[in-house]
Amino acid sequence: MSEQFIIHNLRFAEGKEQIDAVLPQSSFARLSAEVVRPTGDVHFRLTGGRNSLGLPVLDLAVSTTVELVCQRCMNVMTSDIVSESRLVVVDKESLIDEYDSDEEDAILEDAEFSVLELVEDELLLVLPASPRHEMCVDSSAAKAAAEANKKPNPFAVLAELKNR
Ligand SMILES: [Zn+2]
Repeated sequence: MSEQFIIHNLRFAEGKEQIDAVLPQSSFARLSAEVVRPTGDVHFRLTGGRNSLGLPVLDLAVSTTVELVCQRCMNVMTSDIVSESRLVVVDKESLIDEYDSDEEDAILEDAEFSVLELVEDELLLVLPASPRHEMCVDSSAAKAAAEANKKPNPFAVLAELKNR
């Protein structure tokens, strides 16, 4: 499946090509290891073009919703991740330092460039390091359920209500 996401990055940029795709989070192994459960989809769009200097670039837009553990209440929370980035594609290693900037990373021409690896690198880069709910719901039943099976168990919540 991933072969179709191997591109010649320089030709892709120069040809102003575009890939628009939706893949399950479970197809990204490193991302899956960082989330509670890889349940959502990853949307991404890679577009070739040129920057203001006329250099070939790849514009990447990625978005997904991940399940993370809130570092305050330790319950599962969802976090929307949206990111856009731009890469300048150069054909000489010596040009990488020249064109690498805060806004645009420079990468070397590559005939077998993995778009999925790029997408996954970007997601891991912008994943919150210490995720927290805006407002935690601190229920002991929900917490126990979260520890037991990583998701709130409706029966545990019901049992808690009956005991009141
Ligand atoms: Zn929380």
